[in-house]
Amino acid sequence: LGPTICIGEILAEIVATTTGHGFAESQPLIGPFPSGAPAIFIDQCGRIGGKAAMIGAVGDDDFGRMNRARLERDGVDVSGIAVDDTLPTGSAFVRYRPDGDRDFVFNMWTSAAGNLRWTDAVEAVVSGAGHLHVMGTLLVRPGIWDMTDRAAQIIKARGGSISLDPNLRKELKDDGETAARLAQILEMTDVLLPSGDELQLAAGRSDRQAAIDALFARGITEIALKDGTRGATVFTPGAAPVHADAFAVTEVDPTGAGDCFGGAYIAARRLGEQIATALDLACAAGARNVTVRGPMEGAGTRQELEDFMKANRRITH
Ligand code: ADP
Repeated sequence: LGPTICIGEILAEIVATTTGHGFAESQPLIGPFPSGAPAIFIDQCGRIGGKAAMIGAVGDDDFGRMNRARLERDGVDVSGIAVDDTLPTGSAFVRYRPDGDRDFVFNMWTSAAGNLRWTDAVEAVVSGAGHLHVMGTLLVRPGIWDMTDRAAQIIKARGGSISLDPNLRKELKDDGETAARLAQILEMTDVLLPSGDELQLAAGRSDRQAAIDALFARGITEIALKDGTRGATVFTPGAAPVHADAFAVTEVDPTGAGDCFGGAYIAARRLGEQIATALDLACAAGARNVTVRGPMEGAGTRQELEDFMKANRRITH
């Protein structure tokens, strides 16, 4: 039916090589690395061999060229990425705290990423797409929400499917408008990829099984629940859940695990893989990515993920 597409921010990421608190003092940094949650998702999708296209905007600068070149190398159609000649490519500076939390300095919404528009090029990509992956974080941005909603309507009307990574823990608690947008996209969602308590938040139910049942009743056909080093479990209506343990790895940089997991899972399912196979590849993609510094540096090809699965044991609980 056409490629998987993702809409949203494309960034250059610069990462501190020491842990600490914030950026108020000088510290060693490395990068720039290609980044942005939607870009990480679509890059992993392309790397594993899924048809993939990105909709976003970069500046006419080296950060933009770096991002486009990476996605192109990994098989992603970049014709929906606008080159904005008035604003720079977005950037993010990231530092990890000793407890694993992160401090960020973002230049996102005053960059090309914040100036994303529906253009003829976007229309062309969306009208040929078979699947839209929605990043929940973008529901808080009115302009990008409008584009997401428009793309979702077009793709559903042509028989395509939608996946959603809610990623909205904080926002949902105090923002009624975001909650309304989430409800609207959930009505069109086929595959949900929550982590932590997002499953319960999305369903508005505190009990896990009640949340799953409520989401199935709304038309969701697959829920892939991510649980960090506890692995992940896929729920489908009327069948036993399918669980995969996580791989035992040394985590160097946790950024991008969930996005690589999602990119691998959705691409593998769309390539016709069974749930268990797609889930193994997704867990491998998430784990492999955290072993390498840089948000998408550890995304893997099918072969790299197969090799990774052979070389690494699972964490059993
Ligand atoms: P999110 O970033 O969306 O919260 P997770 O942290 O649960 O998602 O990561 C997604 C998947 O990636 C997990 O289900 C797991 O399979 C894998 N993963 C993430 N972090 C690790 C880790 N430190 N070790 C092994 N696997 C990991």
